[in-house]
Amino acid sequence: MDIWKEIFEKVRKTPFIDTHEHLSEESDRLSISPEKDSWISMMGPYFSDDLISAGLDEQGRAKLLDTELSLHERWAVVEPLWGAVRNTAYAKALEFSVKELYGIDEISFSTIDQIQEKYLEFRKEGFYKEAFSSRYAHIESCQVNSLDGAPFRESEQPELLMQDLSIVPMFAREEVVLGLSIEKFSEPANISVQSIDDWYKVIDWYFVQYGEKAVAVKSQNAYNRDLDYDPVAKESAAPLFLKRIKKEEMSEEEMKALENHLFGYTVGKATEYNLPVKLHTGYFAGFNGMPMARVARNPGDMSNLCMNFPNTRFVFMHMTYPYESELLALTKHHRGAVADMCWAWIIDPVAAQNFLKRYLVTAPLNKILTFGGDHSYVECTIGHAAIARRGIARALTELVQEEWFTLEEALAVVEPIMCGNAKEIFHID
Ligand SMILES: [Zn+2]
Repeated sequence: MDIWKEIFEKVRKTPFIDTHEHLSEESDRLSISPEKDSWISMMGPYFSDDLISAGLDEQGRAKLLDTELSLHERWAVVEPLWGAVRNTAYAKALEFSVKELYGIDEISFSTIDQIQEKYLEFRKEGFYKEAFSSRYAHIESCQVNSLDGAPFRESEQPELLMQDLSIVPMFAREEVVLGLSIEKFSEPANISVQSIDDWYKVIDWYFVQYGEKAVAVKSQNAYNRDLDYDPVAKESAAPLFLKRIKKEEMSEEEMKALENHLFGYTVGKATEYNLPVKLHTGYFAGFNGMPMARVARNPGDMSNLCMNFPNTRFVFMHMTYPYESELLALTKHHRGAVADMCWAWIIDPVAAQNFLKRYLVTAPLNKILTFGGDHSYVECTIGHAAIARRGIARALTELVQEEWFTLEEALAVVEPIMCGNAKEIFHID
């Protein structure tokens, strides 16, 4: 009996619930005129970070992203470094997408025009559904963290593109990613904010409006600060909030204390609404800007969060890479900790495979989520899903070969780790 074949077949047939994407709406994609819409733009997010790491300068990157230039001019930026980066999973995922969706075996100078033709052909009404139902993607639904500025995006396809409610603007300072001003954020709620109590009302309004529709709340504030949201009492926070309203100068310490307090209020609300709290942890997207010392402090802060908010479900995203061992210990120890492998299969696919293998013989089966594409292009999600499926099947095959699992036991965990856990954790019918 071929263990790999049987396991892979089961993994292929089982749908993913994709727990993290940044996909725009299909109609937004289709509103771009075909002349301006080139497949090579898919190289912008993630893949171009590898190009910079390999030596490309920022001028070159700007050229790669410039939609006014021709496909050939843009490819000319990639070509000299293609050999250096095509082995990374960022590139492999792109190649898998091209193979799966367009039937083209590789990305090279000889195929770029053909890819463009197929890219435009595929990009038509209904293509999101078509992409998700392709052979190796087989994605039942995904969870979108919209980056278009609004804390919650009402989707045209709410059953396919479920949405996270972004909580960053509820507690974080204005300058950070997705941070919003008090004025702008309170406007839809039609509340004039004069005190911290008014601000609570604004936060409450967002939960009343979107709490039922959202699958989770999400914060990527780890790009801007440590996750040490230690409890701060209202009495200390209220005067700080007044300072913020009056736009008075605040020390870093004061700003942080205010954020900590509002984070606590917001997480309390999410918990009241039975919404898991998704937190970016670990590795940074982008280039030349990741403070490793801060990233290294994430696991310690995460364990404090679990202890300070014992009734909250924290979904720790991105496998906290490269601190996945710490995440494993946290998930094993704290009831509130859930491990989410979104993005991980294209950051470090071998680490992801090993993490899953270790997770399954270390921590409870019901707290692992194995896939989120973390893409803004639906096409890219397909290649990523193909890599994840292979990794999951390989991890399970090795567990059988090493006699931790029988084949039956391995087959039995496929459904929970690919979709069942997500349905339970995010209350999806
Ligand atoms: Zn993301």
